[in-house]
Amino acid sequence: MSDSPIELSRRVIQLALSRGFADAGVTPVAPSAWADELRAWLAAGKHGSMAYLAANVAERLDPARAIPGARSLVLVADQYWPRGRDGAGEHQDADGVATGHGNIARYARGRDYHEVVKRRLHELCDALRAEFPGELFRAFVDTAPVLEREHAARAGLGWIGKHTLLIHSRRGSYFFLGGIATSLELPTIPERGQEPDHCGTCTRCIDACPTRAITPHSVDASRCISYLTIEHRGLIEPELHATMGHWLYGCDVCQEVCPHNSARANHAQVNAADRDDEARAANTALNERGSGEDRVTGSACAEYREARRSLPLLEVLDWKAEDRSRVLSGSAMKRATLAMLRRNAIIVAANTFRDQDRVALIARLREITGDDGEDALVRQTARQTLERIGLA
Ligand code: SF4
Ligand code: SF4
Repeated sequence: MSDSPIELSRRVIQLALSRGFADAGVTPVAPSAWADELRAWLAAGKHGSMAYLAANVAERLDPARAIPGARSLVLVADQYWPRGRDGAGEHQDADGVATGHGNIARYARGRDYHEVVKRRLHELCDALRAEFPGELFRAFVDTAPVLEREHAARAGLGWIGKHTLLIHSRRGSYFFLGGIATSLELPTIPERGQEPDHCGTCTRCIDACPTRAITPHSVDASRCISYLTIEHRGLIEPELHATMGHWLYGCDVCQEVCPHNSARANHAQVNAADRDDEARAANTALNERGSGEDRVTGSACAEYREARRSLPLLEVLDWKAEDRSRVLSGSAMKRATLAMLRRNAIIVAANTFRDQDRVALIARLREITGDDGEDALVRQTARQTLERIGLA
């Protein structure tokens, strides 16, 4: 290959885009600039019980240590929900939850993204190996989320919002990120420089977070509903139950309220500091770069087509292992154990059930607390809940 390094970078990005990813970028391997913040976050216990985040910190902070031989990273973004769709960016989602149901975060409504992104990244690795024999190509998905965002920002895919998620200038934040570490030398291409921070003076995500988990550019995972419902295997503190509202699995509130996920997103509207005409003209040009539907909302990968937006809470509460396996076949929701899902269902049902439904729920919770054969987590959550609503 006689291409210059920049041409090589363009070729690799082109190959990634040809696999159907919404966007792709490249960046040389470099240590994290967020090392102090990550260490302080871990020291404060903000990772909750996710001990794996505290392991191998030095490797996480430097991909060259984690993947010997890696000189560059290829980052890909796979969009699972277009901005503007179904009220995304308008904070309407909570209003549409069916009676008796608990809501599921958008990312988990379709096929398991690990499978989808990994398969397409492996296809991309095969294509790269065919074109660049003898070079190293190693795919990664969701193995170091914080750092993937940082590398993606360096690769020009967006900026890290105050809610700590990556925001793409034209597509918002409903993305999965993945990447490939390679021995190729791939400089960032000049037309994809690092995106400036367009959060400006906005604080919508911080103000709207139901559990007050967000401070600028930091999320206290131990209070975050996504962590509590998906990662946390123990009891949930009763003081946080009410704040979980209708969220059975995950939470989208900080993304729903983000103006960059609105169909009308325009940095000139979002950033109070961007009110001058020059910025407005630049932002309009940015939003007009695409074509068709893509121009306004971005198009999501068809493989993430919505399968279920919510689940009936009393059914989940009565699930057996085989029900969970059947209903959640191929879904990312399988990350939560049966006991965790039943725990979540109790809490959300107590938050949302009224009248006869509430009477039925209380009867069921009393049954559970009196059943010695019940799972301990479910039984204790039922007891916590009866105490919370004054019926223990
Ligand atoms: S996912 Fe929900 S709970 Fe977690 S930081 Fe965002 S708004 Fe807060
Ligand atoms: S809601 Fe506002 S502050 Fe939060 S990430 Fe979006 S633009 Fe940034």
